[in-house]
Amino acid sequence: MADIIKLLPDHVANQIAAGEVVQRPASVVKELLENAIDAGASTIKLVVKDGGKTLIQVIDDGVGMSVTDARLSFERHATSKIQKAEDLFQLNTKGFRGEALASIAAIAHVEMQTRTEEEEVATHIKIEGSKIISQEVTVAPKGTSMMVKNLFFNIPARRNFLKSNNVELRHILDEFHRVALAHSSINFHFYNNGSELFNLPTSNSRQRIVNIFGGKTNEKLVPVKEETQVVQISGYISKPEYAKKSRGEQFFFVNNRFIKSPYLHHAILGAFDGLIKKENHPGYFLYLSVDPGSIDINIHPTKTEIKFDDEHTLYAILRSTVKHSLGQFNVIPSLDFEQDQNLETPYGYKDKSAEFPRISVDSGFNPFKEDSDAGTAQRSNFQKPNTKGWESLYVGMESNIGKNSGFSSVSFESDTITGSIFDSKKETIDTGTTTFQLRRKYIVTTIKSGMVVIDQSRAHQRVLYEKFLKNITIKEAVSQQLLFPLSLTFSKSDCAIIEEIQDSLTTVGFVFDSISGEEVTVTGVPLSVPESEVGIILDQLISDYQQDFVVDGFSQTDILAKTLAKSLSVKTGEMLDGDSQLALVNDLFACKESGVSPFNKPIYVTITEDDIDKKFI
Ligand code: ADP
Ligand code: MG
Repeated sequence: MADIIKLLPDHVANQIAAGEVVQRPASVVKELLENAIDAGASTIKLVVKDGGKTLIQVIDDGVGMSVTDARLSFERHATSKIQKAEDLFQLNTKGFRGEALASIAAIAHVEMQTRTEEEEVATHIKIEGSKIISQEVTVAPKGTSMMVKNLFFNIPARRNFLKSNNVELRHILDEFHRVALAHSSINFHFYNNGSELFNLPTSNSRQRIVNIFGGKTNEKLVPVKEETQVVQISGYISKPEYAKKSRGEQFFFVNNRFIKSPYLHHAILGAFDGLIKKENHPGYFLYLSVDPGSIDINIHPTKTEIKFDDEHTLYAILRSTVKHSLGQFNVIPSLDFEQDQNLETPYGYKDKSAEFPRISVDSGFNPFKEDSDAGTAQRSNFQKPNTKGWESLYVGMESNIGKNSGFSSVSFESDTITGSIFDSKKETIDTGTTTFQLRRKYIVTTIKSGMVVIDQSRAHQRVLYEKFLKNITIKEAVSQQLLFPLSLTFSKSDCAIIEEIQDSLTTVGFVFDSISGEEVTVTGVPLSVPESEVGIILDQLISDYQQDFVVDGFSQTDILAKTLAKSLSVKTGEMLDGDSQLALVNDLFACKESGVSPFNKPIYVTITEDDIDKKFI
């Protein structure tokens, strides 16, 4: 048989390598920014168009390249940063693989202008799909400008795979944040579609964080500092009460390189243990400095994963350092999560407390006076039936008959819930159906064949979800106008998301006066959304969008309906009165899909008479 193995031509090899290095426009941004930093730039400009699909340009004032270097830089494995394998263990640069430019040039139209301090003229090189188109002498300031146009122009499959411009921009923002946070001494400008998104002046790391994530971030930060022989740690954690539902602001830098480390992340979670709710994520910006010889960065092409020699020690130090900071800044004693949970009020009810109490307290009632005429009726509501402790037989059962006992005097908002939140109250007053609430979590009701146990929170989610979907579809959202416009501050990237989903938000009843920079002004909200919760709900929406990377309109509205349903639904732990229980049951079974929650969880189980009979055999 004839020989069949051939060496791949360079441009093909480069294209294959590009697949590893360049997944999307954001990868190009990362590589170019890192090159600019390695070149010692003090000012770096990033220009992006159409989510980086049309243009990504990075301009730096670093050392620049000679004519020969300029040409060589596009060769694979061409690097000025290491010369021998041992150098890998003393890395002080971001790049070292010598692959980025070769990979990028293989899959885009690239133009580079570069000049060193010594030379008077600059080199201008055009290269497309690894082919040099032209090389000229030109006039340019010292430093390098790299323009990358039409990414994946020669790999349509990859180009089609890219997400919407906004989603790609979000990825770019993530990379930009990571690089900018790691280098607060460098001045960064970021222009998107012709307008300036960021202008980050030279600063310290705290100011950098605040400049990126908005003025309000400052008060959230608690400093962290520790120096040991193995590692120096500095940076900030955000106070536990600011923990977010999304994993947004979590940054580890090792020797000024952003890295991902689930293991070290776990150490931080350990330090926050008991201080934040399980579903929340702590924010952190932590800068670790270690001996370059004690880490191996080479284990991933994008260089975001590294291996530490002594991970266990690092874990322990990190955990105790963060714990110490939390303690030192008095963050711990001010928190009481037990109480917090109790007070967590369903958004829908918070400001409705004025409508009830349905029990009117008899101010003239004197407990020491036997049977006054006034107030007898009410008082009977309050009395525990003979306090013989019979209730303890039914621990956790709160039938709607006994509901008011014991709760009347201290009434947490979440304890008292009117039927009015469930619209169909009127229809429900019927028919002898009985319901009761079990452990403030389930509603139990009877049906012909036995009984149904309903998860109250999931049931309400389903009801609200279908309601919102319907409103969105028939564009019939009812909006309630706010008395005063509400100004909310978000980070720039969060604002960008709100802008992106603004149309969908409007269809459910939000009205925005303006969205600009870091500020969103809301003038109207969906009917059931209380003003005090608008910020929380928008935060939740942003984080849901970030996690799902929604592109099309359909999934946008779906996520919106889900998020609103989740935020506004009755939660586990909340007491529902009899009317509310009944109304919820009826609403649920009027739903199109009453069996599963919007998040695909079962809503109820049926226990038939048969099932029960079997237990008695
Ligand atoms: P690496 O960064 O891993 O060395 P790259 O392909 O990113 O590989 O770059 C190749 C080489 O080109 C670098 O080692 C550097 O010498 C040079 N280079 C790239 N970008 C710049 C820049 N902005 N300024 C100066 N030199 C640069
Ligand atoms: Mg590089």
